[in-house]
Amino acid sequence: MRFSRLLIPTTKETPNDATLASHIYLIRGGFIQSVGGSGLYNFLPLGKKILDKVHAVVKEELDKAGCQEVSLSFVTPAALWEESGRLEKYGKELLRFKDRKENDFILGPTHEEMMVNLVRQTVKSYKQLPLNVYQINLKFRDEIRPRFGLMRGREFLMKDAYSFHTSTEDMQREFALMEETYKKIFTRLGLEFRVVDADSGAIGGSGSKEFMVLADSGEDTIVVCDSCDYGANIEAAVARPKAYDATTEIKVIAMKALYDEGVSKVVHFALPASVELQDVKACNAVNANDLVEYEEEAGIETLVVDSALEGMDDLSATEKTYADISAVQEGDTCASCGGSLRYTKGIEAGHIFQLGTRYSEPLAANFLDENGKSQPMVMGTYGIGVSRLLAAIIEQNHDDKGCIWTKESAPFDLQIIVSNIKDDTQVTLGEQLYEAMLAKGVDVLLDDRKDRFGAKIKDYELIGVPHAVVIGKKLAEGIVEFMTRDGMLKEEVSVDTIAELL
Ligand code: ATP
Ligand code: MG
Ligand code: MG
Ligand code: MG
Repeated sequence: MRFSRLLIPTTKETPNDATLASHIYLIRGGFIQSVGGSGLYNFLPLGKKILDKVHAVVKEELDKAGCQEVSLSFVTPAALWEESGRLEKYGKELLRFKDRKENDFILGPTHEEMMVNLVRQTVKSYKQLPLNVYQINLKFRDEIRPRFGLMRGREFLMKDAYSFHTSTEDMQREFALMEETYKKIFTRLGLEFRVVDADSGAIGGSGSKEFMVLADSGEDTIVVCDSCDYGANIEAAVARPKAYDATTEIKVIAMKALYDEGVSKVVHFALPASVELQDVKACNAVNANDLVEYEEEAGIETLVVDSALEGMDDLSATEKTYADISAVQEGDTCASCGGSLRYTKGIEAGHIFQLGTRYSEPLAANFLDENGKSQPMVMGTYGIGVSRLLAAIIEQNHDDKGCIWTKESAPFDLQIIVSNIKDDTQVTLGEQLYEAMLAKGVDVLLDDRKDRFGAKIKDYELIGVPHAVVIGKKLAEGIVEFMTRDGMLKEEVSVDTIAELL
């Protein structure tokens, strides 16, 4: 590709709403363009290229693991969500609308219902199972606080896979296979990550694991053990049993019941005896009382109890203690190895769930077993935030000048920079090298613009292609410069050997 022909609108301006490096550089590098500052983005040629590369890695590894790609309608009939019981529960993140005939629709934030609907019409017998079907498609979530660029958009690209099985054991086998497959994907993308125990949230199910890309800017707090690979999202880290007494035990059961009712996120807390479970549920829909503040705006049913809230005084001392220590603290040992835990920050890049029959039962996705008996399919579901990965890669790989793309995510392998476009010998060598690299199958970007050298090198650093050849003044002495964007290498090379070296 020739820089002069590409739409790469790099800019020096930092967007007003951007604080994270990935957000700043993805906009400044001309990868993406904000649409009205509302969590909606256009992908420009470079951004689309990287998205496609990440997409390809995800697809390759899933296909190798035996998954099959499909593409489902983004617009989803609300009736399917009524069948699963999620229409009311999902809250305001779910964008709802009507067509001209007054039929209710939603824009899919996740596709369990849609995929179950596909499979229940096509799979009837145990002989057709197991099955793992996926898509890499747009999702829409009307996030309360879309921010950080691609990290938390409202419209975003997700890989969502759904597996269907005749038994829990077989689903667990697939869950383990997906865990391994995800590890391959994130490793290929050059990411440092941790697999952690997680809360199943609005998706539901019995067990889940998140893939956390380690970064200080991550929105999730995770507890990790340095002596083994144990890790848990703080949302899923449970209270230490030693803190329970007869009173709090009852409360814990109440909390569990809340989870079972489909409340998506609960900050662990102790309820005073006067608050019944029904009151808590009522509080979701009506108004908050002194103790429990329902973040109605959040759309997700997040219940927060703050010990500083008025009314907390009514709690007994034991309950207060429980409320304070319910989360795992740094220095605790949980992990079976006995090592000490510490907090760290992560970006949730993937999430896998053991769903069981959470969707197949209400949606009647049944199969006939070997004895001709009808049974609900046992399911797993597996998500990767494909567009969020672009941000995660940059959060881990940047410096104060710009992006440093990893090998498999880079928009190009090599950039050839012709310093002075008015110098014919420089131009000629640039063209020759460019053609030679193309012939070798190297994905190369030739900076053949009429701009000054300083501007070109700044753009190179901002865009973050892994390797560069700079053809400059020293060409008169038969020398060009070869460098890597990670700063590990910068050397003068003879013109005669540069093609071979590359
Ligand atoms: P989060 O906790 O960050 O809101 P989530 O738990 O709601 O994410 P899941 O329902 O597990 O998300 O969806 C699967 C994956 O989709 C997530 O692991 C994440 O990588 C990605 N994802 C979720 N929400 C967004 C978003 N608003 N923008 C970009 N990617 C997202
Ligand atoms: Mg979310
Ligand atoms: Mg989450
Ligand atoms: Mg999640």
